[in-house]
Parts: sequence; C-alpha cells; structure tokens
Amino acid sequence: ERMISADVQEEEETIENQLRPQLLSQYIGQKKVKNNLKVFIEAAKLRNEALDHVLLYGPPGLGKTTLATIIAHEMNVSIKTTSGPAIERPGDLAAILTSLEPGDVLFIDEIHRLNRVVEEVLYPAMEDFCLDIVIGKGPTARSVRLDLPPFTLIGATTRAGLLSSPLRDRFGVLSRLDYYTTEDLKKIVSRTAEIYQMDIGETASEELARRSRGTPRIANRLLRRVRDFAQVQGFSQIDFDLAIDALERLQVDRLGLDHIDHKLLKGIIEKFRGGPVGLDTIAATIGEEAHTIEDVYEPYLLQIGFLQRTPRGRVVTHKVYEHFQMEVPD
Ligand code: ADP
Repeated sequence: ERMISADVQEEEETIENQLRPQLLSQYIGQKKVKNNLKVFIEAAKLRNEALDHVLLYGPPGLGKTTLATIIAHEMNVSIKTTSGPAIERPGDLAAILTSLEPGDVLFIDEIHRLNRVVEEVLYPAMEDFCLDIVIGKGPTARSVRLDLPPFTLIGATTRAGLLSSPLRDRFGVLSRLDYYTTEDLKKIVSRTAEIYQMDIGETASEELARRSRGTPRIANRLLRRVRDFAQVQGFSQIDFDLAIDALERLQVDRLGLDHIDHKLLKGIIEKFRGGPVGLDTIAATIGEEAHTIEDVYEPYLLQIGFLQRTPRGRVVTHKVYEHFQMEVPD
C-alpha cells in the first residue's frame, strides 16, 4: 500500500468522513480561500439566494470535499455528492438535478472527467437553472425545457486547466487550495489525535506534519499507521522516537518522499543524467501512469523544488542530489 497514493479506499472513506470538520471555523489553514468563502456565504444568505457556483482545485487530499460539505453546512442546505465519471448519460445528471431542493449543493468530484454530452446539459442548468431534454427519437423527437430549483454546483478537480473553458467560465467562484504549512498540518494532526483520543507528543506530531507532503489526507493516514505501531508495541503514548521508527518502517523519508518518489528521481538521474526527459518516458520507466505522476506525485516535487518542468521535459535539481547525498554533476 502506498502511503501517499491518491486513491481513497472505500474503508478509508468512512474514516475520512468521521474526521471532516463541519464548520468553516474548524477548517484549518487555507486562509485566503476561507476568508473569501465566508464573505460569499454571508452575502448569499443575506440575499436569501443560492451561493454562486464554486470550483475548487488543487492536488488530492487537500480538503476539497471537506470544504464542499462545510459550505453546504454553513448555508444550511443539503449536499448531494457525485463524480464526473459516475455521471454517464444526460439522464443521470437530469435525475440528480431534478431531485435537488432550492439552494442545495451538488458536489461533483473529478468534474474534469465529465463527458461532453453531459457537460452540455450542465451549461443551461448552471446558467439559467433549466434543463433541455430531448424526448423520443428520430422525426418525432422534441425538446422539452424543465425548470430547476436554484442550486449551487461545487466542482472539484486536481487542475483547473483540465476543465473546458466554457465549463470553467460558468463558475462564479474559483478557489485554489495550496499545500499546507507544517504548522497547519501539525494542528490537523493534533485535532485528529484528539478525535482518536491518542496521546501524542509535540515533536512527534511536528515530525508527522513535516513528512505529510503538505497534505491533510496523508497527515491523517500517517497518524493512523503510527497509532498501529504504537498499539502493537504496547505504547500508550506516541513520542518522537516511536514516530520516527514507524515512519522509517513505512519508508517515508524526512521530506515525506517514499520509495516511488525515490524511484522516479533516481530513475531520471541514473537513466537520463538528470533530464530533461519526457513525462511518458518517466512513466514507462517506473511503471506508473503518466497522468497519475502529473496529478499526484509531481506537484509536490515541483513545489519543493526537486523537479523542474522545461519545454523539453522534466529535470531534477541540485536539491535532489543533495537529498540523496550524491555528487552534483556540473
Ligand atoms: P480532497 O477532496 O481534496 O481530496 P478531502 O476533503 O477528502 O480532500 O480531505 C482529506 C482528509 O483530510 C479528510 O479526512 C479531512 O478530514 C482532512 N482535511 C482536509 N482539509 C482539512 C482542513 N483544512 N482541516 C482539517 N482537516 C482537513
């Protein structure tokens, strides 16, 4: 099992739901996004209107789903959750849209994966709160217009650039989530530890925060695994040494990089003299999908300045050589 994998296993989903903060005030970090949303929510409530459509984008595990549920909660409305690939036909979308109550939130995760036919049904729904449905086939086919209750669409995607521009343009609020600071992640670790009634030392939670790749999902996941090690070894408190020991067993290094990051970076160094090398070539070399590398693994490596994107491909920086204690080539 990959600690930093993007996928959420079914069992993990239940665990994550238990950990989700319910209110904006409990949502740690992302100050800019939070402050803006607070104003928009308050204004919409004052006007007694549905909140404008919101697009949340950023790497997996940064709290997009959490924020969507919080928005619904703060607006005192219900939320219906689905995902781009789950809506196969226009009829699927129509069924969801017609089931909404006025003001409700419709959350579509991975919205960039909606197919085009469905996407086109979404445009008038977002803009005019109506649905154009074709009934029948061939010469007798006719189009019927259905009115919808005003609703708020919240879309989530790993990159805003993956959306078609007509869809992107129909969102009134675009919010980018950034990687969290160690300080904020430490607060998240402490909050989760409290929910789990775990006793964890300051330095231990800081170390977990530091190795979580700026990502709350990973911070919570690491904490759960460290808790397993502690329990099996019969410790009731998690101190620094125990945390380090567990992290080492999990093969998460001091920057939060794991064996696949190592394989990726060392692959570029050993096989391609540090690059530049194309994404597809890297993908083939390490046996991962190119889009997974691009969406999940690479953003953090770019963020910490380990990788650079050039027109001719990816290049590792001197920081990588230093991290692996390798000699930096000329
Ligand atoms: P995404 O939808 O961006 O992939 P999620 O919203 O599912 O991410 O968040 C993953 C986990 O991280 C959830 O269990 C959530 O409780 C936790 N989390 C995310 N952001 C925050 C935050 N700002 N404060 C506290 N916990 C958070």
